[in-house]
Amino acid sequence: MKLCLICKNNTNDCDYNSICKGCLSLLSHPRFSCQQCGVELEHQQNICGSCLTLPPPFSFTYYVSSYQAPIDKWVMELKFGKNVLMSRLFAELMSPLVKNAQEPMILVPVPLHKSRLRKRGYNQAYEIAKEIAKLSKLKLDTSLKRIKKTEMQAQLKFKERTKNVKGAFQLKQPLSSKHIILVDDVMTTGNTLKECAKTLVKAGAQEVQILVFARKSL
Ligand SMILES: [Zn+2]
Ligand SMILES: [Zn+2]
Repeated sequence: MKLCLICKNNTNDCDYNSICKGCLSLLSHPRFSCQQCGVELEHQQNICGSCLTLPPPFSFTYYVSSYQAPIDKWVMELKFGKNVLMSRLFAELMSPLVKNAQEPMILVPVPLHKSRLRKRGYNQAYEIAKEIAKLSKLKLDTSLKRIKKTEMQAQLKFKERTKNVKGAFQLKQPLSSKHIILVDDVMTTGNTLKECAKTLVKAGAQEVQILVFARKSL
């Protein structure tokens, strides 16, 4: 019998192993969203106004759910609750979004600074990407490193957030492919992912797509 990682009910009647139908119904994705940055839109259009005027360094943003209650708690559970198993649940829901991706696409997790990694014991983005790699044919690449110890983005004001992550990332070795799916647990302002993507593009990446579990969509 397989149990839902959220509520511990059995998931026998569900298409997924790690989440039950009830908990699945708590996920919500906006009806219309920008395919490039994922922001919620009022009407159907492919790209939002801000991506048209100032295109971000990535071409697509895939996400399972809007970042709202109680999904935010699930994300916290993985990030701070030491519940690494949650990465399996996220990966199970995230991998169908990139089911058509194949080589030369690779999965690159958003890195943690080594001091934070030591403190937390694991990098949630890496754990998720590792599970997605198991469920897909995509290879994992961990060349991207965080060289600057940054403040937690959530604790900063909007303006400080861009400055905080500037120059925070670097490649330890050349990328194994120029086609990247950048993986993280959550996208809020998008500054961290933008800075990662910028670093990858500078290093020769031709395409960067974003894959996160939850996105703050408004
Ligand atoms: Zn459940
Ligand atoms: Zn957009």
